[in-house]
Amino acid sequence: MLISEKSNFFKKHEIRVSSKFPDLASRIQLKAKHVDIAALLVDSVLHPLRVRFGACSIDSWLRSEELNRQVGGSKDSDHLHGNAVDPRFNNNIDPLAVFKYIYESKMQTRQCIIYMYKKPIQLHVSINIPGREYKNDFLLSYEPGKYDFYD
Ligand SMILES: [Zn+2]
Repeated sequence: MLISEKSNFFKKHEIRVSSKFPDLASRIQLKAKHVDIAALLVDSVLHPLRVRFGACSIDSWLRSEELNRQVGGSKDSDHLHGNAVDPRFNNNIDPLAVFKYIYESKMQTRQCIIYMYKKPIQLHVSINIPGREYKNDFLLSYEPGKYDFYD
């Protein structure tokens, strides 16, 4: 089952994944609104990135409160709403190049964060949705809890 009919690359089961806690992720209740938001994320961000950078897997997408606690997500994480995704590309793709591409191509993102201290380096991308404060942030994090604006 595709998330969006406009992209063959992303399937509904990928909305509920966790590389570290797959059991917790499999128990998440997937609602229609989560799939709607996921389709917007695919059409506006993930599909264009997949076309540009090739194979893309998902480390984390929608999280329950419990899963978010376990992975150490922020209390107000976009992952709790399903409008954030942590994509992973092949090893020959520099995550910082993906980050810069999102910035330069002016994709409509809410927060794009690159965690430079994580091994491997982790990219986080979210989109704006109703009910959440509007943002358009590009942040670099070189140590836990600290963020520098990218420009
Ligand atoms: Zn994330």
